[in-house]
Amino acid sequence: MHTPMPGQQPGPYRRRAAWRRRALGGGAAGAAGAPSGQGFREHLRLGRKGLAIGVDIGGTKVAAGVVDAEGRILAQARRSTPGNDPRAVERVIVELVEELGAGHRIWSVGIGAAGWMDLDGGTVLFSPHLAWRNEPLRDNLQRLLRRPVLLTNDADAAAWAEWRFGAGQGQNRLVCITLGTGIGGAMVMDGRLERGRFGVAGEFGHQIIMPGGHRCECGNRGCWEQYASGNALGREARELAAANSPVAQELLKAVDGDVDRITGVVVTELAKAGDPTSRELLEDVGEWLGLGLANLAAALDPGKFVIGGGLCDAGELLVGPARKAFARNLTGRGFRPAAEIELAALGPNAGLIGAADLSRVTSRMHS
Ligand SMILES: [Zn+2]
Repeated sequence: MHTPMPGQQPGPYRRRAAWRRRALGGGAAGAAGAPSGQGFREHLRLGRKGLAIGVDIGGTKVAAGVVDAEGRILAQARRSTPGNDPRAVERVIVELVEELGAGHRIWSVGIGAAGWMDLDGGTVLFSPHLAWRNEPLRDNLQRLLRRPVLLTNDADAAAWAEWRFGAGQGQNRLVCITLGTGIGGAMVMDGRLERGRFGVAGEFGHQIIMPGGHRCECGNRGCWEQYASGNALGREARELAAANSPVAQELLKAVDGDVDRITGVVVTELAKAGDPTSRELLEDVGEWLGLGLANLAAALDPGKFVIGGGLCDAGELLVGPARKAFARNLTGRGFRPAAEIELAALGPNAGLIGAADLSRVTSRMHS
C-alpha cells in the first residue's frame, strides 16, 4: 500500500487518523479532536460487519485469529516466533494473514506485541523479545498486506478486549493487570486507551514496592513484578525447596527433587490440588498484588481492576488474598468507595481479540 506523506493525505485518511488517536489515546491532539460519544457509537455500528485479524506476537509463538465485531474468534492459526530477524517476523505475520484471510473477507489487521509503540502507532520503539528497535513495522506490513494495519502493545490490546467484550464492560475508568512472567498494565479511560504523553504509560510492574529488594531486569531493585508475578511465585517456591524445608515436600515430589524445575505453574497446580504450602506461597503473592493495587487506586481511582494473565489460573487462591490486602492498604479506607477486583473473562486470546478490534474501530472510516 502506498502510504501518503503528511500534507498529501486525502480526506478519508485524515478522518481515520482522528479515530485512531481517539481509541489509542493520542495525547493532547487526540483529545482536542475527539468526537462525541454518539459519533463513536455510530462509528462502531458502521464497523460492525467487518472482520479483522488479530496477531499476538509473543516470545515463543505468534498466534492469530479472525475476529468478528462481537469479539468472537472465527478461525485461528499459530506459528513459532522466528528468532531475532525483524524480516522473518514480518514474513510469519504475512503467512498467517494470508492463511486466515483465504476463507474470510478481512477488513483490517491488528498486531499486538510486548514493547513500546510510538503514539502514532507506526513504529515499534522497543520490544523485549524481538529485535525491533525503532522499526517502522506498520508501514512495512501495510505494504505487504494491502490492508489497514494497527500496531499496539499487548497489554493495551488485552485491556481493550476486556473493556469491549469481557470483565471490564461498562467501566469508564478501568485498569487491567496482566500477570505472567512479569506484570503488564493498561488503562481504558472514558472509552479510550490511556497511553500517557509518550505512549509508554502502564508500566505498573516497575513501581518500586520494596526499596533495595530483589533485582529487576529493568535495572532497579524492588519492582512490584519481582513480588507479584509468576516468576516471583516460582522464585519463592524454589528458595523454600532449596532450604530443604519439610513443608516443601509436595513441591519437591512434583519435580522429582529437581528444585530448578519448580515454576509458578507447578506451584499453582499444587495449590489447586490442595497443597497447603503452595497455597501459602500464592497467598503471599496475592498480598503483594493487593498492596500494589492499593497504590494504583491511590493514584488513578479506577472503578475496577481486571486481573488477567497466566497466573490467574490460580483464581480465587490468588485474588482472594489480593482483595484483603487491597482493602487493608487502600488510602482513606472506610471513607471512600473502593474499586472492584475481578478476574479477566477472555483468557489467553484477549490480546489478539483486542488487537483485531482496535484495528477495526480505528480504520473503518476510510472505507
Ligand atoms: Zn523493574
